[in-house]
Amino acid sequence: MTDWNKITAELDGLEIVTDASQVAKLSLDYYHFSPVLQAQLADKRADLVVRAANEEDVLKVARVCVKNQIPLTVRGAGTGNYGQCIPLEGGIVLDLTPMNKIHRIEPSLASVEPGVKLAAFDKKAREIGWELRMYPSTYRTATIGGFIGGGSVGAGSINYGQLRDRGNLHAVHIVTMEDKPRVLELRGDEVQQVNHAYGTNGIITLLEIPLAPAYPWAELIVTFADFLEAAKFGQAIADADGLVKKWVSIFAAPIPTYFTALKDYISPEESSAFLMVAESSLEPFYDLVKEWGGKITYKKTAKEAQKGISLVEFGWNHTTLLARSIDPNLTYLQTFYWDLERVEQMYRYFGDEVMIHLEFIRVGGMAIPAGLQLLRYSTEERLNEIIKYHEENGAGIANPHTYILEDGGRKTIDLVQLAFKERVDPYGLLNPGKMRGWLEREQ
Ligand SMILES: Cc1cc2nc3c(=O)[nH]c(=O)nc-3n(C[C@H](O)[C@H](O)[C@H](O)COP(=O)(O)OP(=O)(O)OC[C@H]3O[C@@H](n4cnc5c(N)ncnc54)[C@H](O)[C@@H]3O)c2cc1C
Repeated sequence: MTDWNKITAELDGLEIVTDASQVAKLSLDYYHFSPVLQAQLADKRADLVVRAANEEDVLKVARVCVKNQIPLTVRGAGTGNYGQCIPLEGGIVLDLTPMNKIHRIEPSLASVEPGVKLAAFDKKAREIGWELRMYPSTYRTATIGGFIGGGSVGAGSINYGQLRDRGNLHAVHIVTMEDKPRVLELRGDEVQQVNHAYGTNGIITLLEIPLAPAYPWAELIVTFADFLEAAKFGQAIADADGLVKKWVSIFAAPIPTYFTALKDYISPEESSAFLMVAESSLEPFYDLVKEWGGKITYKKTAKEAQKGISLVEFGWNHTTLLARSIDPNLTYLQTFYWDLERVEQMYRYFGDEVMIHLEFIRVGGMAIPAGLQLLRYSTEERLNEIIKYHEENGAGIANPHTYILEDGGRKTIDLVQLAFKERVDPYGLLNPGKMRGWLEREQ
C-alpha cells in the first residue's frame, strides 16, 4: 500500500495537485472519441499529479517513483486520442506543460523544452522566417513533447511526411527510470527509440527539431458536385510539385454540414477541398481549380487567416470533434488508402455509414490519400468488420480504438523501443500497460 503522505513529503518543493476534480481532469485525454475506449478508460485516475518546471524537477520525480515503485505517466496538454496519457495503474501523472522554454531558434533548427505549445513556437519561429515542418489541428493547445510522444502527422505532412520519418526529429534529452535516474542525449537514428512511444520508455525533457521555411499561407475552400472529382483534384494538387502548399484535405458530402460556422461556403450536397496554399502559388492554383471544374467559395489571405480560426481547425481530427459535437454517435477511423482506387471502392461499398475525409500526406516520397473517416457507430462487432474489410482490401488501418501502442499503428512489436525500455525503465514504471512488447515479455 503506497503511503501518499510520505510520497508528497518526498516531492517537497514541487507543485502537486491533489484536488479530486483536477486530478480527474489531468488523468484523461480525448479517448472519448472512441466508444470502445470510453468503456475501458473513463474511470482511470492518477493518485497525484505533479508539475515539473525543469529537468531537475523531472529527475526528482523519477527518483521518488523508482524508489517507491510508483507508476509514472507523462502528460503534455492531454489532447491525445487513444488514452495515451491516461494512467492505467494510477500512480503519478507528470504534467510537463510548465517546461515551456524555447532555448534556441535559428534558421532551420530549434531546441525547445517539451511543454512548449506548437502555435506559440510557430509564432516565434516565423519572426525569423521559419516555421514548424508540421503541426496537428490541436496546435493551439498541444505541446511539442506530446506531439512527438503521441502524434504522427499534420498540416505540413504533404511536404515533410510523418513525424517518424528520419530527419523530422534531430535529438532529444530523456530522463531515465533506472535505480539512479539520469539524463541521456539521443541523436540521429537513436531518437527512434523514443519517438512516438507514448512516453513508455523515457521522459523527454529537450527536443532539437528541424524547421521549414515559412510562407504566407492563403486558406481556401473549393467545392465540387462530386466527391470523387474532389478527391482527384486533391491528388492533382498534392502531386503538383511546382505548387507550394501546406495542407490538402477533402471532405465527402455531407461532412461539411457539421461545420456550422462555414455553412455559407458549402451546401449540404457538395464535397469540398480545404487547402493552405502559398500566396505566391495562387495563380497556378486558380488554373488547376479551373482545370478540375471546382468552385472557390472561400479565400483568406495569410494576413486575414491569422485573425480568425484557421481552416486547419476543421481538418484532421477536428473534423471528428466538430461532427461529434452534433452527433455523438459518430466515431472515426485512420486509414492509409494508398491510392484513389481504394478510396472509390470504400466510398461505394460503405456509402453513408463511413463518410470519407481525406488528408493527403507524403509517404516514401509519394503523396497519398490518408483517411480520417467519420463512422456511424452501431456495435464494436460492426466496427471490427469495417476495419477488417479495409485491411482485407489493402487499406492500412491505424486503429484509434485501442490504447496499446503497437496495435494502433504498425501492428508489430518495435524491438528497438522495447530493448530501450528494458534498459532505461527496468521496472516498467513508465505509462504501464501501453506497450504490448513489454506486457508479453512479463508473462
Ligand atoms: C481534435 C483533435 C485533433 C487532433 N489532430 C491531430 C493531428 O492533426 N495530428 C496528430 O498527429 N494528432 C492529432 N491529435 C492528437 C493530439 O492532439 C496530438 O498528437 C498532440 O500533438 C498531442 O500533444 P499533447 O501535448 O496533447 O500530448 P499528450 O496527449 O499530453 O501526450 C501524448 C502522448 O505523448 C506522451 N508524452 C507527452 N509528453 C511527453 C514527454 N515529454 N516525454 C515522453 N512522452 C511524452 C504522453 O504520455 C502520451 O502518451 C488530435 C487530437 C484531437 C483531440
